[in-house]
Amino acid sequence: MKVILLEHTPEPERLVAAAARLCYSDKAADELLQDFTPDKVSAFVRKLVSLGHESPMEHVNFTFAIAGISRACSHQLVRHRIGASYSQKSQRYVKEKQFEYVTPPKIAAKPELAAKFEQAMIDMQHVYEQLLAAGVPAEDARFVLPNAASTSLVLTMNVRSLWHFFELRCCQRAQWEIRALANAMLAEVRQVAPLLFEKAGPTCESMGICFEGAMSCGRCANVLER
Ligand SMILES: Cc1cc2nc3c(=O)[nH]c(=O)nc-3n(C[C@H](O)[C@H](O)[C@H](O)COP(=O)(O)OP(=O)(O)OC[C@H]3O[C@@H](n4cnc5c(N)ncnc54)[C@H](O)[C@@H]3O)c2cc1C
Repeated sequence: MKVILLEHTPEPERLVAAAARLCYSDKAADELLQDFTPDKVSAFVRKLVSLGHESPMEHVNFTFAIAGISRACSHQLVRHRIGASYSQKSQRYVKEKQFEYVTPPKIAAKPELAAKFEQAMIDMQHVYEQLLAAGVPAEDARFVLPNAASTSLVLTMNVRSLWHFFELRCCQRAQWEIRALANAMLAEVRQVAPLLFEKAGPTCESMGICFEGAMSCGRCANVLER
């Protein structure tokens, strides 16, 4: 899996803080960025996070290039509808010469299962090629490609949506691949906007609350104790 932060709104924390400043002070539009010291920016960002006032975070976008995730993972990712935009490599227009795939660690760890898994991928590749050779268009031949097939996409999300995404997908209960993706994305954005994402992550860490009910991993109790 490769996760690269391609672009982001310039000065993300300053912009979010400026939007908050408008809400909480009598500053005029042309004064919003005046005398805006790093300390004031930090104070506004921390205030927003502590209040749960999330809408000012919608002004800032982050764009990622993501490669080498499975279609199983990308399908979960694109379920995040709000404040998110996706451009995914097409299996309709791009023919898979030798499709790459992701092997789940629990399969890779057992040689006999890994061999069966690999053979299944080879068989699917053969059928795919036979279909193409018989004149079936790629948009139909792709029906034999598996959930394991690798994909790549460009994803843009605003900060509010990223927070929500990290709450759900950095959680121990999330499926391993999308959790790895979410953790990699969180590491990227923290480098650029450490304050904005200081407390982003699973709700057991950010709020000391677990929404998983009976399915909880039990970590929340440990976090609270810590
Ligand atoms: C552990 C886990 C297990 C899952 N298991 C399944 C599963 O078995 N089957 C399955 O189908 N999905 C499953 N999902 C996916 C889940 O149902 C969501 O589709 C996905 O997490 C995206 O979350 P979201 O809808 O909150 O995000 P977004 O689409 O980004 O929405 C953000 C928020 O906007 C609001 N919102 C968005 N759309 C609407 C709307 N139409 N009406 C009202 N409010 C709206 C909601 O408050 C929502 O939380 C699972 C997710 C997780 C984390």
